[in-house]
Amino acid sequence: MARPVRSIPELYAAARAGERRALGRLLTMVERGGADADVISELAHPDAGAAHIVGITGAPGAGKSTLVGQLVTDLVASGRMPAVLAVDPSSPLTGGAILGDRIRMDDVAEPVRASAAPRQPRPTAFIRSMATRGHSGGLALAVPLAVRLFDACGYDPVIIETVGVGQVEVDVVGAADTAVVVLTPGMGDAVQANKAGLLEVADVFVVNKADRPGANDVRRDLDLMLDLSHMTGQESDTGYRPPIVLASALNGEGNAEVWSTVEKHLAHLDESGHRMTRRTHRIRTEVLARITQAMAAAAEQALDTVGADALRRAEAAEISPNHATRELLTHLLNDHYTEGMPS
Ligand code: GDP
Repeated sequence: MARPVRSIPELYAAARAGERRALGRLLTMVERGGADADVISELAHPDAGAAHIVGITGAPGAGKSTLVGQLVTDLVASGRMPAVLAVDPSSPLTGGAILGDRIRMDDVAEPVRASAAPRQPRPTAFIRSMATRGHSGGLALAVPLAVRLFDACGYDPVIIETVGVGQVEVDVVGAADTAVVVLTPGMGDAVQANKAGLLEVADVFVVNKADRPGANDVRRDLDLMLDLSHMTGQESDTGYRPPIVLASALNGEGNAEVWSTVEKHLAHLDESGHRMTRRTHRIRTEVLARITQAMAAAAEQALDTVGADALRRAEAAEISPNHATRELLTHLLNDHYTEGMPS
């Protein structure tokens, strides 16, 4: 007999009670977006807010997955319940890589689960890869919601792993409580990170692959750039300077120091009152992304319907594009775009 289809509130209750399958299904809905994702957001919002949100970014191949895998193993061993959201902004072409990540990282959680006593579920990690299929708008909406869902289900810390390319990825990591930027020796990594705008959002730098020559050069470059930069990290007003940790994630060296540095940053946020500032910034970023997306969708729709006449008149040079824009904006801001949104 087929199992009854569970409603979103039922799935949510099950996920909060620790059912991984239910959480997985909700995350799929979050990924798809739309009305179901909105319902999940409404449910999870009041229950979230306790988790330490950590963003980890860096170039492909910097060793992020390796580092995150090690951190997760250590966190689980110390009784924590971490969640990882691995965001891959690339197209379906890298589907293999996404799957590869998931398998590799799920390997981390498995032995812990296997060793747990049957009737005493021990905390384990939840690792999820999120494919965005080149839809950057989707990423900006889905990531905060997935993080909120993990948070509401008791996962702490929630780690977002993303490739440090593109504004959306930088924004996502910059909106975490603690932003970790992973660099490696060679390839002018520090300069690249600076160009990508990562220097401004970094709270902790990790120079990974320190077993290779050149790690100290990267540290020196970074130090120099931080000296020269007027904006040393997001908490420059409190005198916070992002620490630089050398690590060799592959053989486990420096990983403990990476995590203790991340925790020290959280303590600094709590002491300085900046944790609330981060939260405000996160909400602002999310709301702005939602507005942008809703407006863009409404604009597309309006162009095909009520705007068609304005477009035609602009084409015939009866009115200017500016005039057509004003007409359409007047229509859009007249409450039409909020129709269908949850109140
Ligand atoms: P990601 O793309 O940033 O997630 O990078 P991965 O974690 O997939 O690592 C890329 C490659 O670098 C893999 O072959 C890793 O085994 C290797 N790697 C990761 N950490 C280290 C390290 O500390 N030292 C060395 N030599 N190699 C590493």
